[in-house]
Amino acid sequence: MQKMIQETLSQFQTHYGYPAELVIQAPGRVNLIGEHTDYNDGFVLPCAINYSTFIASKKRTDHQVNIIAVDFDGKDNFDLSKPINKSEQGWANYVRGVFKYVQELHSDFTGIDLIIHGNVPLGAGLSSSAALEVSIATTIKTLYHLPIDPKVLAKICQKAENKFVGMNCGIMDQFISTLGEKDHALLIDCRNLETQSISMPTNLSVVIINSNVKHGLVDSEYNLRRQQCEEAAQILNVPKLRDATIELLEQHKTKMSNVVYRRAKHIITENTRTLEAAKALSENNITKLGELMQAGHLSMKDDFEITAPAVDALVDIVKSVLGNKGGVRMTGGGFGGCVVALAPHDMVEPIRKAVEKEYHAQTGLKESFYICHAMNGAGKVSI
Ligand code: ADP
Ligand code: MG
Repeated sequence: MQKMIQETLSQFQTHYGYPAELVIQAPGRVNLIGEHTDYNDGFVLPCAINYSTFIASKKRTDHQVNIIAVDFDGKDNFDLSKPINKSEQGWANYVRGVFKYVQELHSDFTGIDLIIHGNVPLGAGLSSSAALEVSIATTIKTLYHLPIDPKVLAKICQKAENKFVGMNCGIMDQFISTLGEKDHALLIDCRNLETQSISMPTNLSVVIINSNVKHGLVDSEYNLRRQQCEEAAQILNVPKLRDATIELLEQHKTKMSNVVYRRAKHIITENTRTLEAAKALSENNITKLGELMQAGHLSMKDDFEITAPAVDALVDIVKSVLGNKGGVRMTGGGFGGCVVALAPHDMVEPIRKAVEKEYHAQTGLKESFYICHAMNGAGKVSI
């Protein structure tokens, strides 16, 4: 972390010729359980991780915003006194979108010089996009002392991703990147945004393994799942699947296609599992937690159909080492991406060795490993 901060500060000095006045960090995240439940007004259980986006900045007296994205070798600039339009550069739209929607609520700030530099793996499902949005919003808020409530800040960032970038994500990623707590996961009720901090057992590591499976249809499959969930809610005559029970679903089974039935079954059972997992985690009941994560994975595989053969293989390899001493499941939107395991510290190396030995042999793919712990959400870094 210290190295990233130093690099961000020295890049600022090099590019702008004067020192930065502020460094903000915002973390990526991993969801421990509760997949695709957020847009169904249900429950999720993520924690922020020790991989972050860092932003060095300094206020300007004019209305110019200058941005340098070190990791993309990219530059962007725009004028806050004019309408903020889309950029040709993909990464710049996350930044522009946040400026636009902060400005909608608080027009009383002037320009900023910025340097962006992060180590959240890009496009791996650990939400580098939310880390970027939240670090930008927190930078504007902190530099100009804007009275933005953290939950409102997360919503501004979600709006930027939904409306400006065009990715129809739920609130989880921006929320946990803003409000994460060290050594805790956060049970989030995505309907009213109420949260409960769940302390993580100190003997467990959060192990994230990227399957490195690439799937071209992630966005269209994601939108299709959203439609199928809406269809099920309509047939069940409930506002969202959060309001349905498994009994209600069974009563209406014949009124929907088998696919829509299975999609709804995943969401309804996943909400229950997420609440039970939060309880198991807080009670240090690792056997129960492992069972819930396993059931969650199978529900994503068989009912929601969002896993991939290589991801299933990876989960099986980790599970064969862990037994009932921890839990493992795919995490994130699906069709590839990462697997998350909660594992006793002394099992991390055996897991790594087993994956190194078997994953490539079984799938032809090479994994990436991230050993994590739960971290605080966005904030100022002392410089
Ligand atoms: P994920 O959120 O799973 O990492 P996304 O596709 O949602 O994947 O977001 C990744 C995109 O976010 C990148 O392609 C880039 O446009 C933007 N982004 C994330 N981190 C940075 C960064 N450090 N600098 C510039 N752009 C970034
Ligand atoms: Mg993202």
